[in-house]
Amino acid sequence: MACDPKKVARCLLTTSAPWELLGWQPTAAQVEQFNELQHLLRLWNSRVNLTRLVEGDDYWISQIFDSLWPLQRWHGSSDPLQVIDVGTGGGFPGLAIAIALPQAQVTLVDSVGRKLQAVEAMALELGLQPRVQLRCERAEKTGRDPACRGRFDLAVARAVAAAPVVAEYLVPLLKSNGTALLYRGQWQQEDSRQLQRAAALLNATMAAPQGMTLPAERGQRHVIALTPSGPCPRTYPRAVGVPGKQPLV
Ligand code: SAM
Repeated sequence: MACDPKKVARCLLTTSAPWELLGWQPTAAQVEQFNELQHLLRLWNSRVNLTRLVEGDDYWISQIFDSLWPLQRWHGSSDPLQVIDVGTGGGFPGLAIAIALPQAQVTLVDSVGRKLQAVEAMALELGLQPRVQLRCERAEKTGRDPACRGRFDLAVARAVAAAPVVAEYLVPLLKSNGTALLYRGQWQQEDSRQLQRAAALLNATMAAPQGMTLPAERGQRHVIALTPSGPCPRTYPRAVGVPGKQPLV
């Protein structure tokens, strides 16, 4: 989806959070939760290094907007949704998704315990705890755990590893009709070629990349969706560390 520059200008003149570009309007309670999340990030950032994107447009555009723009298909739905965010770090995009999609059960995975403890405390403060589960482990383990393998409608990852590596983390987690969303920055044809090769090995299909120019000069983003074409071979994900060292390209 391309961003309409006229719409951006109008949004930025009237509001610091250009929801209309998302085609979705948060309730007052959701806006309050996003504000509270920003407050909690400031608090926890002083104890654990979670993110540098906490103030002004760094937060509203590079964190919240960037987490939510690829989800337009899911905003209008009230169907129950199982979501997993792999490599959530300070809680993005997972916590933003948990706030924006009240129908979602959200699992957040990261291998760094101190980050997940902070994210857990934030989820609790935000009242999200009944819908948010945390797993402190490597994604290669998550994909082999029967409690997670093949269980998710939506699997997402932002800024975690190269796209073929992330594909190996996410595809095994999907239900047969699920979708993996790879949040990327710049994206070239060679990236598509590499990801397509990885997707074929994982028995998944890659959709055409979608682009977005973030408002407030926050740069270019892409999202690439993968959907299963059949069961993911049991050999994936490979052992901890192998996807990163020997990417499926
Ligand atoms: N997704 C967040 C964001 O966009 O702000 C955090 C990005 S941070 C650069 C990458 C995170 O992925 C780190 O917190 C790291 O611990 C986690 N990570 C990387 N590889 C992982 C793996 N194989 N299993 C679990 N977590 C992983």
